[in-house]
Amino acid sequence: METGTALAARELYRFYRAGEEETLALRGVSLRVDRGETVAVVGPSGSGKSTLLACLAGIDEPSGGEVRVDGLRISHRPETERARLRARHIGVLLQSRNLLPHLSIRDNVRLPQRAAGRTPLTSARELLAEVGLGKRSHALPRQLSGGELARAGLAVALANAPTVLLADEPTGELDGETERVVLEMLRERAAQGCAVLIVTHSPEVVRRADRVMALQDGQATDAARPEP
Ligand code: ADP
Repeated sequence: METGTALAARELYRFYRAGEEETLALRGVSLRVDRGETVAVVGPSGSGKSTLLACLAGIDEPSGGEVRVDGLRISHRPETERARLRARHIGVLLQSRNLLPHLSIRDNVRLPQRAAGRTPLTSARELLAEVGLGKRSHALPRQLSGGELARAGLAVALANAPTVLLADEPTGELDGETERVVLEMLRERAAQGCAVLIVTHSPEVVRRADRVMALQDGQATDAARPEP
C-alpha cells in the first residue's frame, strides 16, 4: 500500500459576492489527508463544509489558496482540466445525487470511467459485484432501495480507483444498519490506501473517523476527539 499525503489544501479562501453582499465562506482553511486515513469534517450549517468539499473536488475554485491531489495541483486550472483530474484521482459521493436517473447503475459507473479517458482498473460489473449489486446492474436508480442506492453511489465514486474519496453526508438519509454498511465500505477503501474525507453530522461517522476537523465560520477550529 502506498503511504503519504494524498490530499492537501493550503490556506483556502472562498468569497461569494451577491450584489452588495459579500460572504466569506472559507477563511484560510488548510488540511492534509494521508492515504489510509479517514477524516470527518463537522460544523454547523453555513460553516463552509460544502464549499470546502467542492473546492477540494475541483468542482468549485477557491478565491485563494491551493488544493493538491496526489501531488498535482487541481485548483486554478480551467474547468475541463479540473474535471479530468477529478475523474482520475477523486471519487465524490453525494448521497444518491451522483446517480443519473435515466441510466442503469452499470452505465452510471461507466460514465466517470469514460471521463477519465483510460482503461478502468476494475470494470463496472466487478465494481457493482464488490458493493453487493452484481445482480442489479441493469436496474435504474429509482428501482433501488435506499441501501442499494447508497451502494450504487459508492460504486460510481470508486469507478476510477481514486486516491481520494470525498463524501458529503453519505449516510445522512440512511437507516442505522445501512449507515454502518456504507461506513464500513469507506473504511475498507481507506484500509486499501485511499484518503477518505467525510462531511457529516453523524456521531457514528465521527466516532469511527481517525481524525475530526471542525469548521466554524469558514475556519478550522479545534475538534473534539472522537470517543474510543
Ligand atoms: P455548510 O455546507 O457548512 O452548510 P456552505 O459551504 O454551504 O456551508 O456555506 C458557507 C457560507 O457560504 C454560507 O454563509 C452560505 O450562505 C454561503 N454560500 C454558499 N454558497 C453560496 C453561493 N453560491 N452564493 C453565495 N453564498 C453562498
